[in-house]
Amino acid sequence: MVHSILFAFLLVAITKPSFALDLVFQELSKTILTQSPLGKYQQGIRISGVFNVHDARYCDPKIVDNVYSLQSPPVKATVLRDSTLVFDREILARRGIKIKTEAMASSIRKNTELLLNGLIKNGDALAKGRHICLGLAQFEKPNAHSMMIGYMIFDPQIIFNVNNNIRRSLYSADAIIAHEFAHQLQYWNQDETLKDILPNGQGYSRRKELQADCVAAALLTMSKSVEEIFKKQWEYDKQGIKASVGALGDFLLNESDHHGLINERELVAEYGIKIAGDYKLKHASNFGFTSTYALNVCRSFIDANNKAHGNVWPFTLKIQ
Ligand SMILES: [Zn+2]
Repeated sequence: MVHSILFAFLLVAITKPSFALDLVFQELSKTILTQSPLGKYQQGIRISGVFNVHDARYCDPKIVDNVYSLQSPPVKATVLRDSTLVFDREILARRGIKIKTEAMASSIRKNTELLLNGLIKNGDALAKGRHICLGLAQFEKPNAHSMMIGYMIFDPQIIFNVNNNIRRSLYSADAIIAHEFAHQLQYWNQDETLKDILPNGQGYSRRKELQADCVAAALLTMSKSVEEIFKKQWEYDKQGIKASVGALGDFLLNESDHHGLINERELVAEYGIKIAGDYKLKHASNFGFTSTYALNVCRSFIDANNKAHGNVWPFTLKIQ
């Protein structure tokens, strides 16, 4: 057990709206791994919930600094303290609302915990006894990371940006949060998409990113009641989910960090919404809608389209 922890490797899944950055594997020290949510889980310690990155009982912001310093090139990021004021850095003259880091972080934690608890209630054995450390950090460019060791880090600017999107809805920020949470589910399931590589041997993000979009949209839909998904409001809400992930699409087709085209990201989100809605109509409860189920159904959809269209799906592609 300890041996596998010592030689485990770290994978950082990165939501990069602007430029490519390779998937990076780095060896971490035994101390960092054993103290991380992943390390504790591997040692048989079961803790459930989403905790403040500054909560010394379960988390350590220095681990985040350490992970970033190990990337190649190192990621420049400052983990924000609870009392630091955050504001929309892209508003001229910085006249936007200033709120405390902890006010935004606690809301992101709460939403992540709802998704985690929803899966546990659905009988998800891999989500049970898992915990996540969650915090905010300021990067050079807006960003969000989900680390295999169990940390989720968001730049407040990425939340401001999705809420400034012209097609925003009440679920725009939730889509980004659920996307990063979906990466944790990929790690817990050791999903095959994590192993995708380019012909040159570098990791290839596209399939796992599309899968995360699809699973995120599915989980958010599962959090609604059947009555709610038939209401007009949900039509608006789900557009915000699609718009959020679509806005982070890129055209770097053959680069390691390619996240999928805008139309592909929106289509997989729509598919996630559909499979969750279908599940609700077919079953009396959400029981059985686990991370494994969602990852499998989403991956099958992506694989079928990849088989038919390669890694550039036509804009005209619709869900059957
Ligand atoms: Zn991602």
